Amino acid sequence: MTLSVVIPLYNEEENIQLLHERLRNALDPLAQEYEILFVDDGSTDRSLSLLEKIQADDKRVIVLSLRRNFGQTAAFAAGFDFARGDVVVTMDGDLQNDPTDIPKLLEMIKDNDLVSGWRKQRKDPFFTRRLPSIIANWLISKVTGVKLHDYGCSLKAYRREVIKNLKLYGEMHRFIPAVASWYGVRVAEVETVHHPRLHGKSKYGISRTIKVVLDLITVKFLQSFSTKPIQFFGPVGLLIGFLGFLILLYLTIDKLFFGNPIGGRPLILLGALLIIVGIQLIGMGLLGEMLVRVYHESQRKPIYVMKKILGPESK
Ligand code: UDP
Ligand code: MG
Repeated sequence: MTLSVVIPLYNEEENIQLLHERLRNALDPLAQEYEILFVDDGSTDRSLSLLEKIQADDKRVIVLSLRRNFGQTAAFAAGFDFARGDVVVTMDGDLQNDPTDIPKLLEMIKDNDLVSGWRKQRKDPFFTRRLPSIIANWLISKVTGVKLHDYGCSLKAYRREVIKNLKLYGEMHRFIPAVASWYGVRVAEVETVHHPRLHGKSKYGISRTIKVVLDLITVKFLQSFSTKPIQFFGPVGLLIGFLGFLILLYLTIDKLFFGNPIGGRPLILLGALLIIVGIQLIGMGLLGEMLVRVYHESQRKPIYVMKKILGPESK
């Protein structure tokens, strides 16, 4: 079993040297082949030149330097694309995660496909970081149905197959366990230590919570309806349209049988509006259906995920 460690770095000049030392101290005794992929996410400080120095001395280090700051999720994605290990471990580059936890994750990955760290004693400010993330974690576990304590912990281990099938966008890296478990991947959680940030500044504030919530809506929508959008828009459209129909029917009867004038009644507007909205929603569902077909058929994307193939065809 070979190991790749993927670490996104954005302006972490004070941490890089020590990070590399601690990684070596944790990984060398494992008697396991490994590589470390440092992903420089467009740092504007000395991070890249420090990484270049480290790489010159240590051939197990690979440095990927992104042209500008694309964000942590994109940096992870870059690392995943270049990782060659059977197991891929991700962690933060600010020394808040501890490389000494890696052996624990490797032990757990033997019986699982994805192991996620849980910062039980998290060392971050309460109001701006821990409180929002308590709410976010609660929400994510309710919405996705995948029960973890700490989705935001970067320290995770993946079997290679898990990440090679994955496309990441936005702030999606925290949803990998949820998405993966919908695919049938075995997910486990393990307690890990967490340290306060000693050098450099945190790159995130409270605004990230909003991005996470929006991404959660996307993920949930894609999970439930990405292959059947008419099932999502259809029922709402039918219901609203039917309501509009009932209203207009009532008004028609009122006019025809009781001779009441209906032209000036607000209800007629509501009825017409509901019918139009209902038709629009069903139309959106049908458009969605066409998009799904174009997406899957033009790219020959299957609607299933294969684990392995046994038999003469297998590679
Ligand atoms: N990071 C990154 N690109 C960014 C922001 C952050 O690669 O745009 C890296 C950062 O260098 C660190 C990790 O992601 O290694 C976590 O960032 P940070 O410590 O700021 O987040 P926090 O621990 O405060 O959630
Ligand atoms: Mg941090």
